[in-house]
Amino acid sequence: MEMNEVSVIGAGTMGHGIAQVIAQAGYNVVLIDTTEDFVQAGIGRITKNLKRRVDKGKMAPEKMDEVMGRIKGSVDISDASGSQLVVEAVVENPAVKKEIFSKLSNVTNKNTILATNTSSIPITEIASSALHPERVVGMHFFNPVPVMKLVEVVRGEATEDWVVDEVIKVVENMNKGPVEVLDFPGFISNRLLMPMINEAAFALMEGAAKKEAIDSVMKLGMNHPMGPLELADLIGLDVCLSIMEVLQNGFGDPKYRPCPLLRKMVAAGYLGRKTKRGFYEYE
Ligand code: NAD
Repeated sequence: MEMNEVSVIGAGTMGHGIAQVIAQAGYNVVLIDTTEDFVQAGIGRITKNLKRRVDKGKMAPEKMDEVMGRIKGSVDISDASGSQLVVEAVVENPAVKKEIFSKLSNVTNKNTILATNTSSIPITEIASSALHPERVVGMHFFNPVPVMKLVEVVRGEATEDWVVDEVIKVVENMNKGPVEVLDFPGFISNRLLMPMINEAAFALMEGAAKKEAIDSVMKLGMNHPMGPLELADLIGLDVCLSIMEVLQNGFGDPKYRPCPLLRKMVAAGYLGRKTKRGFYEYE
């Protein structure tokens, strides 16, 4: 498949990063959000990221101009009609995503690949709202997108082989590592990561060790760059809780029971760095 244009729906935390790495890989990008302000904020963040690379001597100024020249903003989803691949990165809400996939089915042509960056909604469920579920696939990027190498390529129940193959090629062109996984709750990343964070919360709740000690064990003993409690604060405790619930409901297995301390902290509004208080306190 000749791929030269990719649309990204949602210009937020993930969407702007995805648009950036796709444009850096040489594709033209249409970055779509609901308002001009959101689109411009996304493009502004990309400009800032690339400018930082130029200032550090990691990118030539002409290269930055070239990359920025490939990115076009829009507030109209039908501007995705000329793309061979669309990557959806809007809010983690099944109804919103399904409406977008239904609309995309009408505005794109029959060979367009429709990818979602969801971290917890089944690809198969999102695909059910598209006219061609066989062209729907998960492309699960990690935050911050320009830095993190992994992209989980998630094969839904109906996803055809050529779709997975094309997406893997695009991810490789971005200099990232595509890893193919099936559509099970939490894929592989969150299925392994979240139970570790949840267990760290249990250990803290039971008084097995102080929070700093729990984090130190994983940093010093397992070479993790951050401890599980620090990492939970960075991700957001509400996000961690909701993914544990996805695992618990999806597998129907009590081993994924969210830690009561995690629930209590979310109820209190202690969501981590974004509220300046989680397991730790922040300035
Ligand atoms: P965000 O809130 O930063 O950005 C979402 C963007 O989508 C906003 O700019 C919003 O205006 C836009 N949007 C909402 N409805 C829209 C619509 N109908 N059409 C076009 N744009 C619309 O969210 P985010 O953190 O970037 O997360 C986006 C997706 O990526 C979610 O599915 C999330 O689960 C997933 N994800 C997030 C992370 C992360 O660390 N933040 C990591 C991996 C995956």
